[in-house]
Amino acid sequence: MSNFKRLDQYIVLHSLGKGATAHVKAVEDPTTHQIYAAKIMKSYHGSGNEELKETIQNEMENLNSLAHPNIVNLICVNESGTYAKRNGQTKRVMYMLMELCPNGELFDVLYRTGKFSEEITRFYFHQLIETLEAVHNQGITHRDIKPENILFDRDFNLKISDFGFSTLIDKYADGMLYTQLGTQGYMAPEIHQNLPYRGEIVDLFAAGIVLFIMYTQNPPFTKAVPNDPFYRLLSKKDDKFWVYHSRNKTSDFFTQDFKNLIFSMLALQPNDRLPISHIKAHPWYNGPVATTDEIV
Ligand code: ADP
Ligand code: MG
Repeated sequence: MSNFKRLDQYIVLHSLGKGATAHVKAVEDPTTHQIYAAKIMKSYHGSGNEELKETIQNEMENLNSLAHPNIVNLICVNESGTYAKRNGQTKRVMYMLMELCPNGELFDVLYRTGKFSEEITRFYFHQLIETLEAVHNQGITHRDIKPENILFDRDFNLKISDFGFSTLIDKYADGMLYTQLGTQGYMAPEIHQNLPYRGEIVDLFAAGIVLFIMYTQNPPFTKAVPNDPFYRLLSKKDDKFWVYHSRNKTSDFFTQDFKNLIFSMLALQPNDRLPISHIKAHPWYNGPVATTDEIV
């Protein structure tokens, strides 16, 4: 047991992943043998980094108020935990104990299974859209929807995680947000252009990119800025975009319904993009869905 590091009463097993703010480790409760994910925040104590503290507070508060089968469940927060370092010294850390998603991130699953069939893509897209609808109905916007923050539990249910960039939608003000944040390839053009934006609308833009990735295994463009070459092709409805991304190098690889949905979720102007109710009414959304038995 000597090589196990204790995170207070838990046994630290192995690393699950790293992000910009945290190191996530699998930990075991020694009495119940239940395994969890502990998100150990980088330098919370004595860092003086107010931005990082705000990110952590956002995540704790917003995640805590959301209970949904497709959102990673936050079990508890320890603001003054201790972590034994290899040299025997202990370090004060802040960590969040969460349900474990043993099947990893979206790209891990895609790497193992290959691109999803249309029916499986639809199954997960329904989970993603319905969960975002629930988040938005709670007055919260995620602002960092991307494959690294979409995890899969033991039964291959999709779980949205990492609410570090989430914020409350101020219904009493005009609901606009101003802070330029997110992740390069998933940020809506209006955020790249540093314009005021709506959180719900940028979450749906990123969900459109995730939809594209589930179905093709590849990101549609490198940066969703107006002058990214692939984004320009897509927004001009140029078929070269679809030809480039198809396996057989013809644009018929994608159905017209799929192309329409992607185009209307990723439109350049926020007002031209489909709201959730229209996404749910779209013909592609209402096509055949995989059953739970067909999920990997
Ligand atoms: P950051 O805020 O630093 O981006 P994340 O919460 O996104 O941190 O976690 C970083 C990575 O750790 C994730 O991309 C994922 O690979 C892994 N991870 C996070 N939470 C879990 C979890 N509950 N179960 C399994 N792996 C997880
Ligand atoms: Mg993350």
